[in-house]
Amino acid sequence: MAFQQTLRDKVAFSGIGLHSGKEIDLTLRPADAGTGIVFHRIDTTPPVSIEARTENVISTRLSTTIGKDGVAVSTIEHLMAALFSCGIDNAHVDINGPEVPIMDGSAAPFVEEIRKAGIKTLSRSRRYLVVKKPVIVRDGDKRITVLPSRYYRISFDMHFDHPAINRQSRSMKFDRESFADDFAPARTFGFLAEVEALTAHGLALGGSLDNAVVIGDTGVLNAEGLRFTDEFVRHKILDSVGDFALAGVHLIGHVKSCKSGHELNHKFITELLSRTDCWSMMEFAAGENKTAPFQFPLPEMAWLEAC
Ligand SMILES: [Zn+2]
Repeated sequence: MAFQQTLRDKVAFSGIGLHSGKEIDLTLRPADAGTGIVFHRIDTTPPVSIEARTENVISTRLSTTIGKDGVAVSTIEHLMAALFSCGIDNAHVDINGPEVPIMDGSAAPFVEEIRKAGIKTLSRSRRYLVVKKPVIVRDGDKRITVLPSRYYRISFDMHFDHPAINRQSRSMKFDRESFADDFAPARTFGFLAEVEALTAHGLALGGSLDNAVVIGDTGVLNAEGLRFTDEFVRHKILDSVGDFALAGVHLIGHVKSCKSGHELNHKFITELLSRTDCWSMMEFAAGENKTAPFQFPLPEMAWLEAC
């Protein structure tokens, strides 16, 4: 799909914030082409609008937080992943609190309702950032590399020294249907000891077995168990899709991520956008046939061999 899209109708959510534990209402509304995803804190006077863009990220501790004029919205990554995966380029997000409701800890409730609201195609072309040369960012033993590819692909390798996780790896060629079925339902997770420490500091007050996979000394504490045997790495890919959506464009490249989290994801997108020698921006001319197949150029073989 090479044209921008928005929602056909409004869609509303209510739920508690993971950190505040408070009930929060959130409404998605259709937006014009070129708007992007814009959050509006409607509980402040005057209301503050914050574009969901890399340059507005103010914190990546525990979740991704955007802010402006001293007002913030945190834990935006699961909603951003849901909007991106449903092909929504433009939407207004009205919210009456400082964090996006955690719902069940995954992106599935957002995806489900966005699909029900429906999608409307707009008359302006979508922008694709086509990676031409590798870009790499590192932070200790964490690393993200992007290589030229014909598709948007994310490969993730995670390692936790805990028997419930150990090493998990998965590669996802981005596709709307497979994301909705295989990645959107993967829940956020935390270790019991960490959750207790966060609660003691007034964080994760809304966290429970209803909205997170909690890992104790011997294994997963949730009575229902896991939704996927490798739910943890699937959630890391979900988080990556949400964080990378803050680039405001569609990536065409293979992102290889090793142990990364919100902080390195943000560093990666900032670095990638600044490396204008490593990519080119592509879009259809307005008025072009909306149904024509869009063929991305195959990268030079030399770059493929570098994979
Ligand atoms: Zn997450």
